Amino acid sequence: MHTIRVHNTLSAKVEPFVPQKAGEVRMYTCGPTTYNYAHIGNFRTFVFQDILRRFLKWRGFKLNHVMNLTDVDDRIIANAAAAGVSIRDYTEKYVQAFFADCKTLSVEAPEHWIRATDHIQEMVALIQKLQEKTYTYESEGSIYYRIAKFKDYGKLSKIDLSGIQAGARVDNDRYEKESARDFALWKAPKPGEQVWDTPIGKGRPGWHIECSAMAMKYLGETIDIHTGGIDLAFPHHENEIAQSEAATGKQFVRYWMHAEHLLVEDEKMSKSLGNVFTLRELFAKGYKPSALRFALASVPYRRQLNFTFDGLQQATSSVERLRNFAARLKNEKFAAGKQPGMPARIAKAADDFDAGLSDDLNTAQALAAVFDFVREANIAMDKGEFRQGEVKAAQEFLSSFDQVFAVLEDNDAEKLKAIGFAPATSGVDDAEIEKLVAERQAARQRRDFPASDRIRKQLADRGIILEDTKEGSVRWKRK
Ligand SMILES: [Zn+2]
Repeated sequence: MHTIRVHNTLSAKVEPFVPQKAGEVRMYTCGPTTYNYAHIGNFRTFVFQDILRRFLKWRGFKLNHVMNLTDVDDRIIANAAAAGVSIRDYTEKYVQAFFADCKTLSVEAPEHWIRATDHIQEMVALIQKLQEKTYTYESEGSIYYRIAKFKDYGKLSKIDLSGIQAGARVDNDRYEKESARDFALWKAPKPGEQVWDTPIGKGRPGWHIECSAMAMKYLGETIDIHTGGIDLAFPHHENEIAQSEAATGKQFVRYWMHAEHLLVEDEKMSKSLGNVFTLRELFAKGYKPSALRFALASVPYRRQLNFTFDGLQQATSSVERLRNFAARLKNEKFAAGKQPGMPARIAKAADDFDAGLSDDLNTAQALAAVFDFVREANIAMDKGEFRQGEVKAAQEFLSSFDQVFAVLEDNDAEKLKAIGFAPATSGVDDAEIEKLVAERQAARQRRDFPASDRIRKQLADRGIILEDTKEGSVRWKRK
């Protein structure tokens, strides 16, 4: 096992990862703002943090991981007020859609999935602590954080605030404040909007205080890892540090890990370009959840990811190659005994895989270790050199890979069905089905069971069920 090293935005260095308590990781991830469906740019970050948590678990750490749902925010409050419903009613649909999307992409549920609206009391208590320590001031019913009092402000994003002119805005608050740099901890109520009546007055929390209050409630005053997209480093995470460290006098986060942006076909995602894809839009185009997960996971998180439809097609083939290899290991009968050199080859693949992920989660390097091995083992199988005695070790290696990458299980059709994408049976004409059925028969006759299974699966995905008869012929029907 290699030493795990991660890039820490705070130190701007790749450092050995050492949690506070041996064997245990306390981790926080900024979750989605639930006023819309999350898009692939968001999911780049969520897949990154999932690979991270799965890798740490695979390496034996016990995870205590919190992800929040920002269900109180200016847009949510305005939209809920416009629709005449409560915040909870307005966000529920998007919260459920987010849970379903995560499941579809095999993004594991964290130990705590929490909502901002369930933690108003904790936020108020934290603001009171900051009031006692005179880090705050009030203006027109809102409470602001006085950045000038926090000497370390900017240490995460390395931003030089002296260059920011008075009147320039670093935050989207539309309220009166002493300095343009200051941000709202608590916002005064506006007519028609949902408010909370609390000891610090009526109103609602600012976005930044949510994460500080919730992270510290579940994980303690100092947490091991905080993840998020790079766009959150400033001002959101800088403000989280200012709030938490001013209140406790302790370091808030030991390792900050940020995922880079995602481009779509070399362009920045934007509504006007029509390239802000949700998962569902891609599934409607016929792409599989496993391929999307693979495409998002395959580029190391600190590199910009250029998402392309060609890339998604390649990811589809890559996943298929791995599944076919797993099927060969399971279904084919190899000659008994051991293949000279193969145990060492499998051990090397496993070591390279761990080395890649240990090196600041270099998924590209880890995947290269897997695909190199699969290619060599396939060649050995084709030549009749692979031996039955290697099957177990090869399967164990694949299983290690899949504990982190989670794409081997052939469950795309079921996952799509669960979120309302029924297999498309219409549009598949009889001639095409007959052709595939004949191809499968031919594959069976030459005892190429992986190919025959693949075609059966291909047909099943399109809603076609095959029935093998006793006489050896095949009947098919639509579901
Ligand atoms: Zn946050």
